[in-house]
Amino acid sequence: MTSDNNSYGYAGKILRINLSNGKISTEQTSKYSKEWLGGPGIAIKILYDEVREWVKPFDPANRIVFAAGVLQGTLAPGACKMTISTLSPVTGGWGTGASDSHFGGELKCAGYDAVVVFGKSRKPVYIWIKDDKVEIRDASNLWGKETYETFSLLKEEINDPTIHALLIGPSGENLVRGSCVIQDTGRAFGRCGPGAVMGSKNLKAIMVKGKGSVKMADPERFMACAVELKSRVPNARVTKPLRDVGTLGILKPKQDVCGVMYKNAQEVKLPDEMAEKIDPVKTIKKYKIGRKCFPGCPIGCSQVLHFYDGSFKGLTVTNNQWETLGTLQGRLAVEDPQFMFGVNDYCNKLGIDVDFAGGTLGWAYECAQRGILTESDTDGEKLEWGNMEQIMKWIKKIVYREGFGDILAEGCKRASEKIGRDSGYYCLNIKGQELYEPCRGSMAWGLGAIVSTRGGGHTNSAPVLETVGGLDAAKMQKVYHIEHMYQFEPGDENPLGYKGKPKMVMFTEALQRMANCLSVCHFSTVWFDLDFMSLPEMAELYSSATGIETTENDLFDIAMRQLNIEKAFNLRHTDYDRKDDMPTPRDLNEPIPTGNLAGWQIEEDKWNKMLDEYYEIHGWDKKTSYPKKEILKKLNLEYVADEMEMIGKLGK
Ligand code: SF4
Repeated sequence: MTSDNNSYGYAGKILRINLSNGKISTEQTSKYSKEWLGGPGIAIKILYDEVREWVKPFDPANRIVFAAGVLQGTLAPGACKMTISTLSPVTGGWGTGASDSHFGGELKCAGYDAVVVFGKSRKPVYIWIKDDKVEIRDASNLWGKETYETFSLLKEEINDPTIHALLIGPSGENLVRGSCVIQDTGRAFGRCGPGAVMGSKNLKAIMVKGKGSVKMADPERFMACAVELKSRVPNARVTKPLRDVGTLGILKPKQDVCGVMYKNAQEVKLPDEMAEKIDPVKTIKKYKIGRKCFPGCPIGCSQVLHFYDGSFKGLTVTNNQWETLGTLQGRLAVEDPQFMFGVNDYCNKLGIDVDFAGGTLGWAYECAQRGILTESDTDGEKLEWGNMEQIMKWIKKIVYREGFGDILAEGCKRASEKIGRDSGYYCLNIKGQELYEPCRGSMAWGLGAIVSTRGGGHTNSAPVLETVGGLDAAKMQKVYHIEHMYQFEPGDENPLGYKGKPKMVMFTEALQRMANCLSVCHFSTVWFDLDFMSLPEMAELYSSATGIETTENDLFDIAMRQLNIEKAFNLRHTDYDRKDDMPTPRDLNEPIPTGNLAGWQIEEDKWNKMLDEYYEIHGWDKKTSYPKKEILKKLNLEYVADEMEMIGKLGK
């Protein structure tokens, strides 16, 4: 990086709001941008420095950071994601989530790269940001209301139908740990429980409107890169399927690689008849009335459906992504093809994360199947796989913390600890976060989903191409390449092998972090299609947008700085170490029961060797997983190394 100019690309300011005393202030983004880039990079720096070890997720001292990415509000393809980050009530450590957003662009046009909220209001409030006018307003009349209704009432109150908002529903208000934040009437910041942190602060919503714009340092250079990237989209392998059905089109390839949960992953492939019956491609074809896109997205993977018949007759919805199919429909064995769409919408209205709901209920239903939970535990009701009405009812009971729902509202890890009776084996979580996918049979995917610093899931470190096909050794060699770190080697692409996986995961850690910092949708990167942008193009977009000359190696180093401080944040707030980078007992101990990979099983010693290599290339201690002083020093994190040493968690 050769310049510290940050008046381009960035809005330039970070807004800080203390809900305890109503104090509002701003600071310069330049304080953070050089070393932390944007979005979750800036957020983790703020959280690490300001949320001390004695702070708990629901304490007023916790921070929640709503951050736009550096390229949001520009014409970079797919630059429409923003992130929300906090000390997570689900994992107890680093929590972050990205989502499509109109809000992030508006925020930058209002003059802010991020909003940091802390403290706790005495009564329910919402925040209204209109350029440099920022108000904390009474939300008593909105408390208790579902998200869509809240959004509609807020639009009326502000008297602007074009406004965008981030909102919580009853789930967040009731401090259900896996509560999400909903944007407007659809997209969710699902994982890690940011909705519950908003609820703990009595913050119902944030709304924003800005009349500014994002300035480019070198518009011609920026547009040349953006236009070239956009020209790759029409003919790319994934474009048409994404446009037609979004990620729901991956059911068939996922079935082929045994990557779909059935009955809480007792099977990792749906029965063929069920897969045929619930095939979302057929449902979309039958009920599609339009498509939905977000600013700057050249793909547009959302379909709008209207159910004119069936169980959800009368409902108009934007289709869910793959996760709801895996974590609620397959996991709970529901055979109604409309369920995944209907339950996704239902969870959004209540403000509960679909993966949290599915993971927690999957655990409860399997425990009931095995007689670990009886009707005396579950409010006199027998839990039955596939009972759609019953599942919808239990989601509501979780959200309102009714009866056994109050225990489930804590998530499957805490619920299983409370219940005991060896129920923990059936709680499929990593670092307290419910897994929404099996981690057997695709080793880079599994490793990435498991070592993730925010807990189980594939959006932080897991290379997707391994599980849905599209691997081409020659192309990967060209794309998956970082000069001083990773050179792809033929053979690395074998999903069942252990070779090369740590490097592939490390590359993905960098790619996904930089995509989130820049606000680029992962579907517009090489994460999903090798024809799309990778770190070199991201560096070009960033350099031309901001005037800060940055190389792909710089971006890689920034990503590693971010990863290491996330890790240190977890070490400070939790007891996570090497044991928490292991697969769930089910993934580790059980062979794949049916399907193309029947009989295949993770070999623990090979997993451990792979993990050793993963730690080694990161400069982390193999025994504990703790980062060593040398790597922290190299990343300009000496003060983090000092703290790790003080708490006895510096790698040796
Ligand atoms: S491809 Fe889909 S998820 Fe990505 S930005 Fe476009 S609409 Fe959003």
